[in-house]
Amino acid sequence: MRLIQAVRGMNDILPREISWWQRVEATAREILEDFGYREIRTPLVEKLELFARSIGESTDIVEKEMYAFPDRKGELLGLRPEATASIVRAFIQHNLHADPLVNKFYAIGPMFRHERPQKGRYRQFHQIDAEAFGIDDPMLDAEVMYMLHLFLQRLGMEGVVLHINSLGCTECRPAYRGLLQSFLADHAEALCPDCQRRRHTNPLRVFDCKVDRCQSVLQEAPVLLQSVCSACSAHFDRVQNCLQGLKTAFLVNPRMVRGLDYYMRTTFEVITDQLGAQNAVGGGGRYNGLVKDLGGPDIPGIGFAIGMERLILLLQQGSGISSVSPHVFVAALGEASRRRAFLLVQELRKEGVAADMEYEGRSLKSQMRRADKLAVSHVVILGEDELNRGEVQVRDMISKTQEVHALESVVQAMVKFHGKRHPCPVG
Ligand code: ATP
Ligand code: MG
Repeated sequence: MRLIQAVRGMNDILPREISWWQRVEATAREILEDFGYREIRTPLVEKLELFARSIGESTDIVEKEMYAFPDRKGELLGLRPEATASIVRAFIQHNLHADPLVNKFYAIGPMFRHERPQKGRYRQFHQIDAEAFGIDDPMLDAEVMYMLHLFLQRLGMEGVVLHINSLGCTECRPAYRGLLQSFLADHAEALCPDCQRRRHTNPLRVFDCKVDRCQSVLQEAPVLLQSVCSACSAHFDRVQNCLQGLKTAFLVNPRMVRGLDYYMRTTFEVITDQLGAQNAVGGGGRYNGLVKDLGGPDIPGIGFAIGMERLILLLQQGSGISSVSPHVFVAALGEASRRRAFLLVQELRKEGVAADMEYEGRSLKSQMRRADKLAVSHVVILGEDELNRGEVQVRDMISKTQEVHALESVVQAMVKFHGKRHPCPVG
C-alpha cells in the first residue's frame, strides 16, 4: 500500500522536539506581555485581496509564494503568508483603535508560503509576530527592537546582529525611486530576468534579490538612506540614539529593504551567519500608511515577525546540552514497592511535577535505562529494604549523585527542585 506522507515543506513537530517550541513560546509570551502586548488569534485563511493590497502585488510573497485558491463559491482566498495584514484587518474591523488600553498585539502560529523547501525554509512555518499601533514616536521603534533583543538574550541566543535602515516616506521615496530606476536602466543588461521586471514594477525590490550578479551591480547603486527627507532623517537619528541609550547594538544597513511594500521609515532585521542562505531570523518595521490604506483611520503602526524554525535551529546548534525535562522517574523493585511507587507517581503529578514509572516490573537496570532515555532530572529508587525503612534513594541524573531521603518528604523535595528549573536549559 502506498503510504500517505505530509505535504512537501510542511513538517510535523514531534514530541521529542516540542520542549524547544514550548520554551520559545513561553519566553515570547512572558516578554511580550511585560511590554504590554496582548494575544490576538486571527484565521489562517483570509480574502486574497487583503494580502495583495497590503503586502503588495509585485512582491515575491504575493507574486510567487501565495497559497491561493477559489472556494466552492468562487471567492478567492489565501492562506496567510504573514500576520500583519490579518491583524491590521482585525484592528479595523473590530474598531480596536477605539480602545485606548489595547493597542499592542501579538500572535504565534503557522504561516504559508510556496517556496522551495530547504534548511530554514519551509512551506508551512511559524512566526511570533508583534504589532503596536497608535504611536509614531521613534522611542517606540527603539523599544520594539529592544524587546526583540531582550527576547533573544533571554533564550540564550548569541551571534545575531540587528540590522537597521530607513525606507523614507511618501514624501521622499518617489524621488529616490526615479534615481534608482535610472541607475538600473544604465545597468539593465547585468540584471537577472526578475530584476529586469522589478526595475519597472517595484525597483526597490532589486535589493532583496538573492542573485549574486544583481547584488554586485547594486554595490554601486544610490541608496535610499542618502536621500530621505529631513523628517525621516531626524526620526532615524532618534531611533539610533534611543537604541544606544538602551545599550542595544545595531548596524546601519542601507541596502536592507525588506520584502513587503507596506514598510516606511524604520525597518530592521535580525541576521545570523550560522544558517547559510537563510540568514534572517526575524524582521520588521514601521507601516504608518497601512491602516489607512486598508480602509481604517490614519493610525501609525510598527511590528516584527520572528521565524520560529530558524530560531530553534539556532538554539539547538548553539547548545551542547540536550533538553533535560524536569521529570522524575520512580524505579521500584518488588511488588509492595511497585504499589507504593504507583501512589508516589500520582502524588508527584498532583503537585505539578512531571513524573513517570515503569509498570511491567522490569529489572532496576532496565528501569534506569528507561529513565536515561526519558532524560529525567531525578530517579527515585524504591526497593523492598527502602520501603521497610520508610526511605528512598534519590539519584540526581545531572550531577550523577545519589542520596537517601525520607519517603514521606520526597514529594516536597521534588516540588522544590522542580519549581527552580526551566523546562529546557540552553547552554
Ligand atoms: P527571507 O529573505 O529569508 O525569505 P523574508 O524577508 O521573506 O525572509 P519575512 O517576511 O520578513 O521573511 O518573515 C520574517 C521571518 O520569518 C524571517 O526572518 C524568517 O525567519 C521567517 N521566514 C520567512 N519565510 C520563511 C520560510 N519559508 N520558512 C521558514 N521561515 C521563514
Ligand atoms: Mg522570503
